[in-house]
Amino acid sequence: MARIVGAIATSHTPTIGFAFDGNKQNDPVWKPIFDAYEPIKAWLKEKKPDALFIVYNDHITSFFFDHYSPFVLGVGEEYKVADEGGGRRNLPPIKGHGKLARHIANHLVADEFDMSFFQDKDLDHGCFSPLSVLMDHDKGWPTPIVPLQMGVLQFPVPSAKRCWNLGKSLRAAIESYPEDLRVVLIGTGGLSHQVHGERCGFNNPPWDEKLVDLYENDPEALTRMTHAQHATLGGMESSEFIMWMVVRGALSAQVKRVHRSYYLPSMTAIVTAVYENLAEPMSAEDAARERARANRQLEGIEKLEGTYPFDLERSVGHYRLNKFLHELVVPEHRAAFINDLEPLMEKWELSEQERDLIRRRDWRGLMQYGAIFFVLEKMAAVCGVSNLHVYAHMRGQTLEDFQKTRNAQVVYGVGGQEAQKKVEESAGA
Ligand code: FE
Repeated sequence: MARIVGAIATSHTPTIGFAFDGNKQNDPVWKPIFDAYEPIKAWLKEKKPDALFIVYNDHITSFFFDHYSPFVLGVGEEYKVADEGGGRRNLPPIKGHGKLARHIANHLVADEFDMSFFQDKDLDHGCFSPLSVLMDHDKGWPTPIVPLQMGVLQFPVPSAKRCWNLGKSLRAAIESYPEDLRVVLIGTGGLSHQVHGERCGFNNPPWDEKLVDLYENDPEALTRMTHAQHATLGGMESSEFIMWMVVRGALSAQVKRVHRSYYLPSMTAIVTAVYENLAEPMSAEDAARERARANRQLEGIEKLEGTYPFDLERSVGHYRLNKFLHELVVPEHRAAFINDLEPLMEKWELSEQERDLIRRRDWRGLMQYGAIFFVLEKMAAVCGVSNLHVYAHMRGQTLEDFQKTRNAQVVYGVGGQEAQKKVEESAGA
């Protein structure tokens, strides 16, 4: 079974990445940052984790207010460094531990946390700023990650209590993972700081000190604080501290602190700490029970013939094809699909099997392969055939025979008026 070895608490300010990229290791201003991370780096090397679970927040880089969610779990297999306006940092992409992530996803949802999930999104300094000083990465990153992105920038934001409770569920999720993985948790976020308004530049080192003491010894006291109380003591942006609470909730009540540092070079208090987990591992029986509970909602679904639940395995495994077909909502992509299909499929690096299924409009084959129906109805609209064509094909029937099984013999699709006309013509209506 997987084990939580320990946890790292760290700021994620861009200054860390800036100092690293500028080779400022020996610059007296920046040296304390590197001194703080050296022991953590050594600790990580010694513990040799198989996966890092990192809680961070995006800074309106890859996640914008057109769709903003509180708890967003990365379930993909690889993540690139994001361009935050000044070009990307020169860092290699990092592997995701997709299998562990998807196991955690099922568990958290079973515990009634309404998670959202991402893949194919770049990670910004919230994640890569600390990672770049925690691990050597010239030849690629040594350890895969599971990122949990938290929407802390647009209120309402989850309470510290909610994050703490999510941490408890995370602990059970990790401990019930069937492989013997060693997992390290990383909670990111600065302590006292405020970067906006006339109050910007606010810091409170004595409060930071007390906060880290409470975090270590009496974390539940912190779950009683509101965001306003937190902002009063630590500055508005320090409310991102709640990300640390997810991590603390996943650890044993007592922890062994092996490192702690504090440095305030500019706007944000850079705190680092390392805690070893003293939890008793979950028994094999309890782990099996936890897994069964996490999978209960879909238990038995495999007995339904001709039914393909679109779960995270399917979503991640066939993301490229679904994205290619989803893109049919864009007029230029649609036009290329109709007029220049082969070069378009080449450009998207579709596999030969995927190209063949699309060329032959093999609706059933596409479904079985991993396309969700709702991209197929878009493709049908573009191809000028109705949803009923797709249904009939999936059932292995002619349109006419399928129509006989319906109360009304109608055809329709999801296109606009133009597409609708084509659909009716193709059905001979
Ligand atoms: Fe931040």
